[in-house]
Amino acid sequence: MLRHKNFRSSDELKEFLQSSVPSDAYCSCACYEDPEADMDRKGWLGADLVFDIDADHIPTPCDKFHDNWVCGVCGLTGKGFTPSECPVCGGEKFEVSTWPCEVCLDSAKTETVKLLDMLMLDFGFSGKDIHVFFSGHRGYHVHVESEAAKGLDAIARKEIVDYITGLGFDVFFHGLDKKSLRETPPSQSSRFEFGWRKRLALGMKNFIRSAKEENLRRIGLTKKKAETILEHRDVILKNWLNRGTWGAVKGIGFETWRKIAEQSAKLQSASIDTVVTTDIHRLIRLVGTLHGKTGLKKIEFSVSAIDDFDPFKSAVAFKTGAVIVYVSDAPEFRLGDEVFGPYKKQRVELPTAVAMLLVCKGRGEVIESNV
Ligand SMILES: [Zn+2]
Ligand SMILES: [Zn+2]
Repeated sequence: MLRHKNFRSSDELKEFLQSSVPSDAYCSCACYEDPEADMDRKGWLGADLVFDIDADHIPTPCDKFHDNWVCGVCGLTGKGFTPSECPVCGGEKFEVSTWPCEVCLDSAKTETVKLLDMLMLDFGFSGKDIHVFFSGHRGYHVHVESEAAKGLDAIARKEIVDYITGLGFDVFFHGLDKKSLRETPPSQSSRFEFGWRKRLALGMKNFIRSAKEENLRRIGLTKKKAETILEHRDVILKNWLNRGTWGAVKGIGFETWRKIAEQSAKLQSASIDTVVTTDIHRLIRLVGTLHGKTGLKKIEFSVSAIDDFDPFKSAVAFKTGAVIVYVSDAPEFRLGDEVFGPYKKQRVELPTAVAMLLVCKGRGEVIESNV
């Protein structure tokens, strides 16, 4: 690690990177009076508000096919999502092998879209202060560079994190109480105001509209209650849209609505890495550099382009050449327009970017380059 560096120009930085060739490069999200001083003497002036959305924190249906973990204490192995603690010894350190999979990255993108929506609509940050990046591996970074955010301390940032993740969310404060089951709220439009009240109202509508019996059972509803809701789905939604009340169906009481509301809120919240945002000294990958685990670039794209953004095209750094690689194990994957793999203990000639990805992920070794 080479830390506490300070560069006067981008050329100076480039020269340093070219001569030291690090596997990963980071910069601080903070501004300091003296960046080269010891940590406690740097003179903190403020920090960008940064968010990290990583597929590692989002369970997906495919993680059991491409991810595995080994407990660093007892050696237990498992497939899929890494648990917070080992089910056998309670250890919290794991060796994890993941894959930058398309499905996982899409779910990270969905979370990023929710985050961006909250930052702009609920917090009022302007689009020009918000920068969004592909991280180069399994997720997205969002940086808010605004005077309003710069001076926020760790506690203020934790409040923002709680809002975005819906921590401590209580439906009672967001328009769902026993009264709202029967009566139209004083102002019809109040349910669509903004913030969590609006998110909850829209979330419940979307959840009920698309729910299947298993979704309702999974949140703790009895078979009978789930069937009743599905049977009266149209009436419930019509009542909600026309009158702004939820309690339209006999036999469905407040507790059931509360379960639906809590699940809807969970689906509306965004999965972010909470530790990153609250850290006012955070180091974050330097934009334009390659990720050491993939050889893909951390790149910025515009907020409005997020739906069509394709990391497996835009972040490819090596565009020419081919390499012969011995691949120990890799799932099927796409890079650019081409699909590769799956590979198992085989020798294969691959485009440079693909070979780089496999080598960086520890799945392959170069046998011959410049073929
Ligand atoms: Zn263990
Ligand atoms: Zn996946």
